[in-house]
Amino acid sequence: MRAETVSSAIVLGAGMAGVGVALHLRQAGWDVVLVDRQPPGRATSYGNAGIIQSEAVEPYAMPRGLDDMWGVVTGRTNGIRIDWSALPAHVPALLRYWWHSAPVRHRQIARTWSGIIGQAAAAHQHFLNDTNAAGLVRKEGFRVFFRSAAAMDAAFTDAERIHRTYGVPYAALDSKALAAAEPGLANTGAGAVHWQGAWTVRDPGALVEAYGDLLLRSGGSVAIGSAETLKALPGKGWRVETANGPVEAAHVVVALGPWSPELLRRFGYDFPMVRKRGHHRHYDGTGLDLPLMDEAFGYVLAPMAKGLRITTGAELSHADAPPSEVQIGRAEDAARTLLNLGKGVEPEPWLGVRPCMPDMLPVIGEAPRHKRLWLHFGHGHQGFTLGPATGQMLATMMRGEAPSVDPAPFRPERWTGG
Ligand SMILES: Cc1cc2nc3c(=O)[nH]c(=O)nc-3n(C[C@H](O)[C@H](O)[C@H](O)COP(=O)(O)OP(=O)(O)OC[C@H]3O[C@@H](n4cnc5c(N)ncnc54)[C@H](O)[C@@H]3O)c2cc1C
Repeated sequence: MRAETVSSAIVLGAGMAGVGVALHLRQAGWDVVLVDRQPPGRATSYGNAGIIQSEAVEPYAMPRGLDDMWGVVTGRTNGIRIDWSALPAHVPALLRYWWHSAPVRHRQIARTWSGIIGQAAAAHQHFLNDTNAAGLVRKEGFRVFFRSAAAMDAAFTDAERIHRTYGVPYAALDSKALAAAEPGLANTGAGAVHWQGAWTVRDPGALVEAYGDLLLRSGGSVAIGSAETLKALPGKGWRVETANGPVEAAHVVVALGPWSPELLRRFGYDFPMVRKRGHHRHYDGTGLDLPLMDEAFGYVLAPMAKGLRITTGAELSHADAPPSEVQIGRAEDAARTLLNLGKGVEPEPWLGVRPCMPDMLPVIGEAPRHKRLWLHFGHGHQGFTLGPATGQMLATMMRGEAPSVDPAPFRPERWTGG
């Protein structure tokens, strides 16, 4: 790769965000090297619930209702867990998250967010057309299950609002209809909302890997290397060290998911991030057709390549805390009341971190004080959904063109000034 050409880029991070932008740059004719310390799709983009969430038109706000907050404080809510000894480290980002979660601000953010979510499925399809990974993807939606009539009534009202506002398709299933759709369930509670437009992936890491293979087949490169070796070459561009030797390019993209702020501190940027941990474990049971979110216990149960995968909600803990059994243990107990879950496959749960920005929007754009240092991270709860769509947006900006979605709300300056 020649550093003097402007149409070359190093993309740091081979999760869904990294492969998304790398493929779009390559398809525009750029020389692209995707660099990660491990092969594509082995970190957060591997361990998630695998849902391409076109129904997620409003990002997750911080709970502000008294009852919701009381549930978190008392530990009654399994969907959110706080290790109180770790709270002080989270406070600065959480305060900003709280501010942005006020209904009037959240409504405005949702308008921006729904614009990119609306492009997500088509952006995946664009890549899928050129892979043989279509078999990993099912286009029949997923269900949210309710144990109480009160929760279900509230959910039906909200689903109808989402449908009317954004045109998102859904079906309201009572207990009988859910039993007919999922005969393996021993308990169908009060019913479910079936979000029919979402896609579900039976091996999320394998989909990222397939996109990485597509990059290779399209003439791009994938290399093992450490982002920490990134150096600016004054007047020339950027360099990283890889297992194949040094790589230089005119542009670099930071798509390191939850690790992005750490690298960017070296360049003088202090990005606040709400680091919401999540766990998963597989089980060798059977009896579920489509992924099911159990609203009362805040977890998703999904039939996947390695078995039934339970993914947990958000946990705020110490940065270096080991995986925790608390949320996954409660989720497991709850799932056992629904079906034959079987035995856990892994001795220890998988642990990942949702890279959430306090205003719920990813960071997409050029670093304020470094030319051709581009940022693509902070996709929060929906990075697996969004990587290809926001990757297209960033690649368009890197080519000096205007993206179809207004990039202003995503600009890095909103956190760093400058
Ligand atoms: C439990 C859970 C369930 C979720 N469910 C869903 C879902 O159903 N749908 C959805 O859309 N989203 C979901 N998400 C969110 C989604 O998984 C993330 O938003 C997304 O994977 C982030 O992608 P990324 O590419 O930004 O980060 P990652 O996938 O984490 O990629 C970052 C890459 O950077 C690399 N890296 C880090 N540091 C270095 C370094 N120093 N040098 C070299 N490489 C480095 C890592 O190895 C990694 O490959 C879920 C998340 C969790 C935790």
